[in-house]
Amino acid sequence: SRSGFCKSNSTFYSKRNPLTLPPNPSLDVTTFISSQPHHGTTAFIDAATGHSMSFSDLWRAVDRVTDCLHHEIGIRKNDVVLILSPNSIYIPVVCLSVMSLGAVVTTANTLNTAGEISRQIADSNPTLAFTTPDLAPKLADSGISILLDGPGSTRGVRVVGILSDMMNKQPSGRRVRERVNQVDTAVMLYSSGTTGPSKGVISSHGNLTAYVARMLSRKWMQGEIFLCTVPMFHTFGLLMFAMATVALGSTVVILRRFDLHQMMEAVEKYRATGMVLAPPVVVAMINGADLIKAKYDLSSLRTVKCGGAPLSKEVAEGFLEKYPTVDICPGYALTESNGGGASVESVEESRRYGSVGLLSSDVEARIVDQDTGRVMGVNQTGELWLKGPSIAKGYFRNEEATKETFNMEGWLKTGDLCYIDDNGFLFVVDRLKELIKYKGYQVPPAELEALLITHPDILDAAVIPFPDKDAGQYPMAYVARKPESKLSEKQVIDFISKQVAPYKKIRKVAFINSIPKTASGKTLRKDLIKLATSKL
Ligand code: AMP
Repeated sequence: SRSGFCKSNSTFYSKRNPLTLPPNPSLDVTTFISSQPHHGTTAFIDAATGHSMSFSDLWRAVDRVTDCLHHEIGIRKNDVVLILSPNSIYIPVVCLSVMSLGAVVTTANTLNTAGEISRQIADSNPTLAFTTPDLAPKLADSGISILLDGPGSTRGVRVVGILSDMMNKQPSGRRVRERVNQVDTAVMLYSSGTTGPSKGVISSHGNLTAYVARMLSRKWMQGEIFLCTVPMFHTFGLLMFAMATVALGSTVVILRRFDLHQMMEAVEKYRATGMVLAPPVVVAMINGADLIKAKYDLSSLRTVKCGGAPLSKEVAEGFLEKYPTVDICPGYALTESNGGGASVESVEESRRYGSVGLLSSDVEARIVDQDTGRVMGVNQTGELWLKGPSIAKGYFRNEEATKETFNMEGWLKTGDLCYIDDNGFLFVVDRLKELIKYKGYQVPPAELEALLITHPDILDAAVIPFPDKDAGQYPMAYVARKPESKLSEKQVIDFISKQVAPYKKIRKVAFINSIPKTASGKTLRKDLIKLATSKL
């Protein structure tokens, strides 16, 4: 039955309406998006300049850019194209064009250092990078061909095209001959998954078609005016604002980067009805509520979608107290699930504080005891496993991590400790995996540990999440120094901060004689977390 729980094999099914997606193996996701009927007129507005792009402008631009990428730059099926750009109305154009060629979109966090980006480039091996003149220097050492968003001066990089020019070119009239199928890879976003460093998550056209089809069933999103402040290099921003809203015909006002006051100004100016935010921004909105409400007219705002990290009951209640006319709707998903997970879709659902909502349509779940492997039932806590058509295919060139996370029967092991109640609502209790989320950004401890042990005074190190009211959590290091070493907390912090993006900085250090490990040599992170938080 679809009543939310099936006892026979302990699998939970979605209580939402099942989707009817006609099977069409030779369909690319760009064509699927472009063929959706809707009544929308304006696709994107650049909040800073007021420049707007209609849906017909968008699809004309996608045609021209696809043409140029293929015939002038020589992009072919399976080539990887890196997007390194702050949010802009150009990202959807590039993303939809690249995917229509059967080439693969990958993204990098714009805050990352040149070194971090070059390691990602070495892994994904892109043919082309789309970037801005400001960010181009971060790619100088990689020798990669550059597509700039607009004209600008850059030194030390090889510019092969300007996107704003391409969008206005006459069509070449030559056909693009690439057959793109549902099984082909469309997007490869980086995530550390349950363990280790960042890895490319392989998402196919079929995965993304399933995602878009699911979003099309959210009729309330049609005709909305969304404000996009979440980064489009992350799954949440890219899938929602370069794919879902385009298919739905809703309008997206894009802010280049997050700034609380610019965001509120944009809500007022463009009469935005919906926002998509990470929890730290919700906290900032609560803290600044009196000033915000005195200064800006937010009467158009109806919904805030919140995801990427846990939203506590206190924060959800605090938000409703300050903004009683705005619904706050949490959602839960992972890069590896392409939007599949759970979400809150109505006012009634949003009153179940602490829950992230009902399972997404077409998503099945299991709750599994991590120690015994036993499959659990209603109201029992264990690791959440997910299955469904949007679940990614695996990690790029990493069979071991793929096998560990995506099992043979198609289940994705999320690394999150959860339970599902008797009404089918999902609750996230804790994170079992190593991953640290600072303001919603992924910080893989393994990356920081690898850097720490390169310090001549450090014998061993472990990095764990430390709870923080504003950021959610930040990285804390336990360090075992060499005998006689006088290494200080500040020296450790400085050593790392010179090498990583600001959101990955270690913000607290404790010294320890040795890092506690299991017999097989795995760090006992839970013991360290207990030790670190016992004093709180
Ligand atoms: P990412 O792949 O960067 O989207 O990170 C996914 C992870 O973020 C999940 O596995 C969770 O650990 C965490 N996460 C995302 N959304 C939520 C949420 N609503 N509540 C709790 N944790 C969340």
